[in-house]
Amino acid sequence: MKSGSRPTLTTRPLYYLDPGKLLFDARVLRVRGSQVVLDSSCFSPDLRGRAGDNGTIGSARMFGSEITPQDEHVHNLDTTHRVLEGTRVSCLVNSERRQGLMRAHLLQHLIRFAIQSISSCPTYPGHVNARGCAVFVEGYLEELEQIQQWVASVAADNAPIYNWADPSDSRRRFWHVDGIGTAPCLGVHLDSTGRLGSFEIERIVTNSGQVCTLGHLQ
Ligand SMILES: [Zn+2]
Repeated sequence: MKSGSRPTLTTRPLYYLDPGKLLFDARVLRVRGSQVVLDSSCFSPDLRGRAGDNGTIGSARMFGSEITPQDEHVHNLDTTHRVLEGTRVSCLVNSERRQGLMRAHLLQHLIRFAIQSISSCPTYPGHVNARGCAVFVEGYLEELEQIQQWVASVAADNAPIYNWADPSDSRRRFWHVDGIGTAPCLGVHLDSTGRLGSFEIERIVTNSGQVCTLGHLQ
């Protein structure tokens, strides 16, 4: 720590430790305008184009949260909030949005593994929101119908999904399904592929000529 700089405030990531927990109490470590840091949080943060949770902190609406370059988990409240530093607050994650985010995120994982399995085109993850996801593809990707069927068959298998942190670095985490593969991922995940539900895949070409596979939740 540099002389004069403040220590980093650490938030326990309950969204990893107990992903099913949506209602929780936390202590408010810091309030700066409309931004607050809690000692623990079930709100998964926005991360590299992947939308995170919203909900309520005390009586205030929480619009989204992020991990700062200083590694602090900052939650954004409406400007009229009355949350006070040092107090304990009751917090609630928006469950409908969480379900959508986890389904869309699972769909993104499976589309990437499907493309890897069916074609040799490299893929790059695009956005995830509560309605669907995007996967960018290098190549035209003719096999859209096969990809849809591949993902549907993995969902029908209802295989368990495993998650774990690197024992030497908790900021490195992994997603795994037996027979499908392992991916490094900091997301919050459903516990089985059968929870994907109905979906549809389409292919678009962006204005800049990039091929993009969109996964829509239904
Ligand atoms: Zn993931």
